[in-house]
Amino acid sequence: MELEDLPGVGEATADRLRDAGFKTVESIAVATPGELKDAAGMGESIATRVINAARESLQMGFMTGIEVLEKRKTLRKITTGSSTLDELLGGGIETQAITEFFGEFGSGKTQLCHQLTVNVQLPEDKGGLEKTAFYIDTENTFRPERIIQMSEALDLDPMKILDNIVVARAYNSDHQMLLAEKAEDIIKEKNIGLIVVDSLTSHFRSDYTGRGMLSERQQKLNRHMHGLQRLSDIYNLAVIVTNQVMTRPDFFFGDPTAPIGGHIVGHSSTFRIYLRKSKGGKRVARLIDSPSLPEGEAIFSVIKDGVRD
Ligand code: ATP
Ligand code: MG
Repeated sequence: MELEDLPGVGEATADRLRDAGFKTVESIAVATPGELKDAAGMGESIATRVINAARESLQMGFMTGIEVLEKRKTLRKITTGSSTLDELLGGGIETQAITEFFGEFGSGKTQLCHQLTVNVQLPEDKGGLEKTAFYIDTENTFRPERIIQMSEALDLDPMKILDNIVVARAYNSDHQMLLAEKAEDIIKEKNIGLIVVDSLTSHFRSDYTGRGMLSERQQKLNRHMHGLQRLSDIYNLAVIVTNQVMTRPDFFFGDPTAPIGGHIVGHSSTFRIYLRKSKGGKRVARLIDSPSLPEGEAIFSVIKDGVRD
């Protein structure tokens, strides 16, 4: 079904919607009237009608418990390289889900992202999916040299591994969203099993400064996450996003680490892992708010070979 099939949406409106990132009927169905108004310059009441039509036209995805179970049987896991961290995660990074690594600078977020782009390519009996990776790099911290080190440590051909990682630099938050929306063609063409967004929040933080822009930022982030979740569901792939948080030494009570994306990010990631630096180059990962796993901690390390116990 195309946008033009919705009552009240002509070709020009459909083009404007698509330019604003509303590419699918699903994306319209989860939009707010205000968003469509801004995106396509349509009146509030027409926007409401278009949204309702989109909702009605979609099978909104009711499944029986048995069907959910069947779908979850296709779920797969990618090893992180550390058996303790894998155990904390119930076996590794899951497909059909968004996993968020958050923590302060140097806590190992980018290192984990690099390791997983290598590990997703491993055969299944070695903890991989035998698929490729798509890396959205917002901070210019993707390092092929690091991939080579990690590949060599696993006796893999580094050039083959690098060739199976599609890297896209995102220059601002809109560009970042666009890359995720355009990922669909690449996913099919390249057999992508992992999408990395490192960092999810840095551009949003600098593009939407000031109190007045907070709700717009959250709305956009929400839509970005929704799009990523949809890709992970449809293509049975894993999504990893990173989020830098500042530890606040002045903040003695409550949560000392306020995730920058706020709670919208938190609530739309399936798994949230808080990383912190520990003694002797070790890292501590803590699983937070998992739907089905107990809270707990794992200690791992980042060494020349990559992520290890
Ligand atoms: P930021 O929020 O700034 O993006 P991050 O959480 O992404 O931080 P990483 O880049 O993942 O942080 O971690 C950097 C750390 O990883 C370094 O401080 C170092 O301890 C470790 N590291 C990076 N490369 C190597 C290497 N080749 N050998 C050993 N350790 C390394
Ligand atoms: Mg980083």
